[in-house]
Amino acid sequence: MKTKNTDVPIWDRRRPKFLFSGLMSCGCCGGGFSKVSKDGFGCSTARKKGSAACTNMSVIKQKDLEARVLEALEHHLMDEDAVRIFCEEYTAERNRLQSTRAAGRAELEKELRQVNADHKKLVDAILAGVPADQVKDRMIDLDTRRKDLERKLSASPAPDPLRIHPGMAQTYRARIGQLIAGLADAERMDEAKEALRALIEKVELVPVSAEEAEGGKPGLAIHLHGALASLLRLACGLPVHEVVCAAAQMQKAPRRAGRGGANSAQSADADLQCIDNIVELVLVAGAGFEPAAFRL
Ligand SMILES: [Zn+2]
Repeated sequence: MKTKNTDVPIWDRRRPKFLFSGLMSCGCCGGGFSKVSKDGFGCSTARKKGSAACTNMSVIKQKDLEARVLEALEHHLMDEDAVRIFCEEYTAERNRLQSTRAAGRAELEKELRQVNADHKKLVDAILAGVPADQVKDRMIDLDTRRKDLERKLSASPAPDPLRIHPGMAQTYRARIGQLIAGLADAERMDEAKEALRALIEKVELVPVSAEEAEGGKPGLAIHLHGALASLLRLACGLPVHEVVCAAAQMQKAPRRAGRGGANSAQSADADLQCIDNIVELVLVAGAGFEPAAFRL
């Protein structure tokens, strides 16, 4: 089955056409980059909406872009120092969240004890002759609250932390090499493509003037932003489908604004589940250190 104006079969349309389709963005206007010539990518906004919307008319060759991004993924992201510093930050943030969660749990447990004690007092009152009608509503309220607290306390525990080990940088390097080699293997190509895409949050293309450029020629600088959750999963030796899955989760779980308050235990749980998201923010905001960003 095919539809008008395209030769791509309908079941294949969701697949990205090029290795980094949908991940490239314009460093000037934030719009998407797409094929603008037989073998080059350029800013779609600049072409569709004109210079009032974006002035970035530079083009980058597909081959050049793909080779440079793959080279950076393989050799410049996740080097040993970066991984070590990241692990320290990661562990600290994770411990902080765990303790928030533990404190929240203790509060819930305390309230549950109080609710049970109050309930017992009312039962005793009825036994002592107080008419049940007088305490019925209060008993129903207490019962509802008890069930609510028990449900919260039995809610699923936080997932196991990612195992961080000193060999992460080497594991990462070996596996990224296998994925890149997989691009040239018909059988493994789709999986390799999907996994490599999952490691990238975005590929930003920023114009560089002749004066700024190293070779004295104007062009586009590539700012590669790695998807930390996926990079880490790859580095921890998790299977490829979990690497891809991490990327999908990140897209589905945008960071909520604000936290704490009455549901701090609950939100700590949710935060632990989105830990990769948070740590990324912490790293950027905290140490001013991004293990997963690289300018090519
Ligand atoms: Zn643009």
